[in-house]
Amino acid sequence: MKDNIVDYFMQMVRIGSESGNEREFAAFITDELLHLGADVTIDGFSNSSHGCSGNIYAYFSGRIELEPLLFCCHIDTVKPGIDIDPYVEDGVIKSRGNTILGSDDKSGIVELLFAIHNLRLSGFDMPPLEILFTSCEEIGLLGAKYFDSSILKSKYGFALDSMEVGNIIIGAPAQNTLNFEFIGKTAHAGFEPEKGVNAIKVAAHALDEIQVGRIDEETTINFGVILGGYANNIVPDKVIVSGEIRSHSEEKLETLTNQVINKAKAAVEEFPKADMIYDVTREYNSFLLDENNFYLKLAAQAFKNIGISPQLLKSGGGSDANILNKDGIQMAVIGTGMDKVHTVDEQIKVRDLEVISVWIEELINLYGNSKRGLDA
Ligand SMILES: [Zn+2]
Repeated sequence: MKDNIVDYFMQMVRIGSESGNEREFAAFITDELLHLGADVTIDGFSNSSHGCSGNIYAYFSGRIELEPLLFCCHIDTVKPGIDIDPYVEDGVIKSRGNTILGSDDKSGIVELLFAIHNLRLSGFDMPPLEILFTSCEEIGLLGAKYFDSSILKSKYGFALDSMEVGNIIIGAPAQNTLNFEFIGKTAHAGFEPEKGVNAIKVAAHALDEIQVGRIDEETTINFGVILGGYANNIVPDKVIVSGEIRSHSEEKLETLTNQVINKAKAAVEEFPKADMIYDVTREYNSFLLDENNFYLKLAAQAFKNIGISPQLLKSGGGSDANILNKDGIQMAVIGTGMDKVHTVDEQIKVRDLEVISVWIEELINLYGNSKRGLDA
């Protein structure tokens, strides 16, 4: 392990790990965890699909009779994430050329491993820790969905996978994906357009009927992909439209999903010879943690102890925490300092990397010293 957190971060981001192409980075991380003294296992997810690496599970046994505390990060990145060339400018780490930086989520990984390294050096009597490094998070939380969470002993944990320092995300929405296929009939556009049914017109009419954007303070709809048509001289017979609905309220999500489907159906019925098929997939469930949860209080206290005021918030995004919460492990999501993620302008401040690593040390410290508090 490098003894400078910036060098360590740069070393990690140079090892590309786009979703489905994470094996080299997974091997590196496994070695690092073994060096830190963890028991490490990798599950069988690598055999299932997409070329993803297995999920990495590490256990630090610790010396205190406490339940372990779970930390979770993902090892994959979005594209373009090959040949990343990081540099530091005015205290900010960026990437040269046309790639992302990879601070999503390698900032979390570095902050965590560096904190554990420092705690071990200090001789602190560590509480037991569990670490889950998932793969293929960015393409639908696939690793977390595959992972057998029944092996986890922790009941509480922290996903290090949000942006602003000080943010403690205690709630996230559920999400449905909707796929519509609007079906018309092909015909030569110049010779006999009367025989055709234009699926692009059908799809356009349906979309026009459906509200998108922010529906209310906890609900959003977006249609993000449309595919269809062959050439200007062919009446198109097929258009695929896909979108998503998110809400912090499961009830609203269900009602709205049905409303959107019914609006699409009604729009299609206005074209007598058109048809539509659709499917709905639940990507993940919502969660909302109790603010009085002992672990959230520890997290907030750890921030205060290092001079940062914590913010408890609900987010608009899904993460591995949604999957783990559904499995009964109460997971909050912590801002790592990553910024402008999923763009080639992605960056992170050196200071933020350092601060969150210190926060993790402080949190583990407080937790390790909390035995009496828990018993009381
Ligand atoms: Zn992420």
